[in-house]
Order: sequence, then C-alpha cells, then structure tokens
Amino acid sequence: MLEDIAENVAGDRLRVDSITKVGAEIHGYEPTPRDVAKASEADLILDNGLNLEAWFGQFVESVDVPHVVVSDGVEVLDITEDANAGKPNPHAWMSALNAQIYVDNMVAAFSDLEPAYSAEFAENGEAYKRKLEELHQKMINKLDSLPDNERALVSCEGAFSYLARDSGLREKYIWPVNAEQQATPQQITSAIEFVKTNEVPAVFCESTVSDKPMQQVVRATDASFGGTLYVDSLSESDGPVPTYLDLIRHDADTIVAALTGGAE
Ligand SMILES: [Zn+2]
Repeated sequence: MLEDIAENVAGDRLRVDSITKVGAEIHGYEPTPRDVAKASEADLILDNGLNLEAWFGQFVESVDVPHVVVSDGVEVLDITEDANAGKPNPHAWMSALNAQIYVDNMVAAFSDLEPAYSAEFAENGEAYKRKLEELHQKMINKLDSLPDNERALVSCEGAFSYLARDSGLREKYIWPVNAEQQATPQQITSAIEFVKTNEVPAVFCESTVSDKPMQQVVRATDASFGGTLYVDSLSESDGPVPTYLDLIRHDADTIVAALTGGAE
C-alpha cells in the first residue's frame, strides 16, 4: 500500500520500491540480507510506524539512510483486546482520511529529498488526496444504508478499527494482529457469542491469513462467510486490488454486499 501511495506522490521523479512483496504477511516478515542491501542503497526509507512492522526497528538501524514514519500525525486508536491491549493499532491506512496524512508526510519528505520537484510533489499529493476524499465519502454513503443491527464488522484480524470509526460500524475480531494468527478457543468463542448476540448476518477474513478460524464461527452461527477483505497487502496487478484505492473500494463493497445479503 505504501509503495502505491508513494508512487502517486512521487510521479516519475523518484523510484519507489517495497521491501515486502505482494501477498506477504507484513507483521512478522523477516528481512533477508538482500533486503538490507537494497535498503542501504536508498535515499529515503518510509515505514508505517505504530509497531506495524515488528522487524522494522532493527532493520532500519542496520542501514545508514534517513527514515520517515508516514503515520506521524494520525489520531491513533489503541488495540482494546488480549495481550496487545493498550498498544497502538497499526492499521491506520485502513482509513482514507488517515491516508491523506500519509500523503502530506510523503510530500514533505520527498520535497526535503528533492527540493527542485517540491511543487510537483505537492501537486501530485493534492490530486491524490482529492481521490481519497471522494473515496471516503462514497464509502461512508454506502455503509450508511445499513440498518443498525447490521452495522457490525466481524473479521479475523483487528485491522478495521479505523475504517469502523470512519463509518460508524461496531467491530469484532478474532485476533488483534495477524502476526499471532493462532486463534485460541476463547477468541473463537468470543466471536461466536458476538455474532449470536448481535445477529450479525456475515463475517469476514483477510487475504493474507487462513480463514479456518472464521469458518468455525460460520458453522457455529447463522452468519454466512461474507468474503475476503484486503488489509495488509495489495493483490497482484491482475487481482482484485492492485492499488490502494481499489483496496478500500473493494473492502467497502464486500462489506456492504455481504451485510445486506447480496454476497455469496
Ligand atoms: Zn495487519
């Protein structure tokens, strides 16, 4: 996601490359010596921050390259459940409003790096922010049509806190962060209870993890499996979410369709 957003801001003026590949599990990624070599040749390193990349602190210390945290300035939501309670929820990009702050941080960082192109970066940033704002409004309008009892988002990972905040959905997840994708019996039971109590019509899981634990919830309740959501990675270019804008659009459409009974 960060690579795509950065490319939109940089235009043709910078070469942008991601360390993690499409589809990778980003939280527990282990950088290779080749990754370190690649990063040491960079002029600038961007990371999400908020402890998203558990491996990143050590990685960035191992190379002598300036480093900018693109989530700086975002209003941070804490994880509320389990061992991670009280730590910042790292998935701040799952809000097209927050993504506008990411863009501002990138414009500033790129302008420091290449002052000659600062006007161009600012212009690209503004154009992309208009698309983000439009997308945010569309998503809000779509989700607004859901009746109260269907305004609940049940997912594998607790990655949707920011999206739930933006769109007024209640949120329930099996585990807070994908790095520990071993659902405990208590976590499954808790999700089942939530679905039953709230009569949630559909539940979801994310593209980078196994949906087995959520299928257990489906079998134990009246909820259907609403589909795969994208959070921690884009898809390949011929997949459903080759860009960040596609990712937010796809997730909002999938959620609305499943909760209103229009999905599989
Ligand atoms: Zn995640």
